Amino acid sequence: MREMHYTMVSPDDWNWRNFTPEEIACNGTGLILIDYDAMERLQEFREMIGIPFTPNSAYRSESHNKAVGGAPRSMHRLGRAFDIPIIEGMTREVIHEHAKMAGFTGFGDYNSFVHIDTGRKRYWDKRK
Ligand SMILES: [Zn+2]
Repeated sequence: MREMHYTMVSPDDWNWRNFTPEEIACNGTGLILIDYDAMERLQEFREMIGIPFTPNSAYRSESHNKAVGGAPRSMHRLGRAFDIPIIEGMTREVIHEHAKMAGFTGFGDYNSFVHIDTGRKRYWDKRK
C-alpha cells in the first residue's frame, strides 16, 4: 500500500478494530503507510494485553522522522514500528512478553515507552 493521508483510508482496508487510521498515522503530517503484517501483530498484542492504548508513534513520514531525530532507516518509516506507552496496568515486562508472543522481533526500551517492530531481531536500551 502507498503512503496516503489517514482520512483517505477505506474502511474496507482497515481490519484492526482497536485502532484507527488516525492513531497509526504520522503525528506530524497525518500520512499513513499500512503494513498489514505489522498491524495484525499490533492487534494481536492489543487483544493479549487487554488494555486500550494509543501508540506514541507508529508510521512516520520522512519529514517528521527527520524532525524527531529518527534513524533514517527506522522501522517507523515502513509502518512496521510502534511505540507502546507504559500506562497504568501495564509493565515494561508485560509489554515485552506479549509483543514477543505476538511476533514482534525488534525491541527498544525508553523511559516511558517500549518501541516494538517487525524488523530483524535486536534490542536496545535508551533509558536515562
Ligand atoms: Zn519507536
